[in-house]
Amino acid sequence: MSSKKPFENFLMTLKDASKEINLCDKTLKKLKVPENIFQTEVSFKLDNGDIQQAPAYRVQHNSARGPYKGGIRFHPDADLDEVKSLASLMSLKCAVVNIPFGGGKGGVQINPKQLSKTELERLSRAYFRTGTEAGIFGVNKDIPAPDVYTNPQIMAWMLDEHEKILGEKSPGVLTGKPLELGGSLGRGYATSQGGLFVLLEYLKQLGLSPKKTTIAIQGFGNAGSFFAKLANKAGFKIVAVSDSKGAIIHDQGEFEIDKLYQYKQAGGSLRGNFCQEDTCDIEKMSKEKVKTISNEALLKLDIDVLVLAAMDGVVHEGNVKNIKAKIILELANGPVTPEADKILEKKDVVVIPDILANAGGVTVSYFEWVQNRSGDVWEEDFVNEKLKKIMTKAFTDLQKIQTKHASVSMRKAAFILGIERIQTAMKLRGQI
Ligand code: NAD
Repeated sequence: MSSKKPFENFLMTLKDASKEINLCDKTLKKLKVPENIFQTEVSFKLDNGDIQQAPAYRVQHNSARGPYKGGIRFHPDADLDEVKSLASLMSLKCAVVNIPFGGGKGGVQINPKQLSKTELERLSRAYFRTGTEAGIFGVNKDIPAPDVYTNPQIMAWMLDEHEKILGEKSPGVLTGKPLELGGSLGRGYATSQGGLFVLLEYLKQLGLSPKKTTIAIQGFGNAGSFFAKLANKAGFKIVAVSDSKGAIIHDQGEFEIDKLYQYKQAGGSLRGNFCQEDTCDIEKMSKEKVKTISNEALLKLDIDVLVLAAMDGVVHEGNVKNIKAKIILELANGPVTPEADKILEKKDVVVIPDILANAGGVTVSYFEWVQNRSGDVWEEDFVNEKLKKIMTKAFTDLQKIQTKHASVSMRKAAFILGIERIQTAMKLRGQI
């Protein structure tokens, strides 16, 4: 793993891109420091009557282009450094896809898997109540969404808590809600769909067909599993997949995606369908043409596209030399460390960076917010057509930067695109 903290990694990439465009000190200073940081201990009642406290954060990075926007994660490793880096990436991401939002992020340092449903509800309500009462959240101020280990049901509890305090309906204060409470069609799989649109566009330029392109996916949660389904439908061959418990590879070609869902459901994890601890059902594996491999082995496979859809910092100085994929698609936030990024560049591995590759989620969140404010309900095809236009345009804008600044990587180009758009907004406001 990288020895650096995520925010330090963000600053390294920011400085690198700023140097390329001779960014003025005032802008750089603004982008290095989040506008607001909220940090507290959130308290909620456990089922046994005890009170539990957990460190809770909301970071608002930059609002020059619009209200802060960004998810809330419940994770044992969530800390201020991580939330700061994710909030900063959100400002750039929203600017890259040119939607009228700034960047924010929230987190609670807790393992939600150890909570009952009622405890999770009390924690979700307590977090949002604290933020609403402190004046942090609001439909024109700061609009959260789900992130790691949070979901539409959690958004529903948070919305309900917010509206109780306000005494009126305000569905646009959160996105990623259930459809019945104002969620948007297409939001559930938007991150994966957006990443797929960009990948397809890039392969089209290279003259490569999905049918001849092999993919391995790290992470089979929301982003990874939807990506597997959509990419397979588009013709790609999904040859290997992993989750936190291990990886599986198809012995003779490619997986049928429905089977992957069945394995995960039956075994609790992909590997769990075939193995209990170190004992594996060889007969079952042979019948299904599946082999188990380690998570690290998945990263070393000789495939065309490696999709990273799990956690940050998974490709680092210690394992980057083993990567054989020609393209990496970052559906996760920050999965490649800056040190590894430089090595990949030298190896001519193209990295489609997180702030473009996974921006489909926040883009459809923006559509949800627009629908909530207008009272309209869009059809799924309409959502996906608009998403395709936005993702394709962002990719074209990024490539124009690559043409202007010869030989910059896609990540540096995406940072430059985001920085320049935020800088224009800050200038127009007279902030710099
Ligand atoms: P999730 O919790 O639904 O899924 C994460 C998956 O990664 C799980 O299958 C987990 O088992 C697996 N995993 C964890 N550690 C692993 C490891 N070391 N090796 C292999 N697999 C591992 O989360 P998600 O919503 O799919 O988000 C995944 C990433 O995508 C995060 O970085 C998140 O910030 C980013 N992202 C998600 C969305 C979205 O809409 N879901 C949007 C933008 C960015």
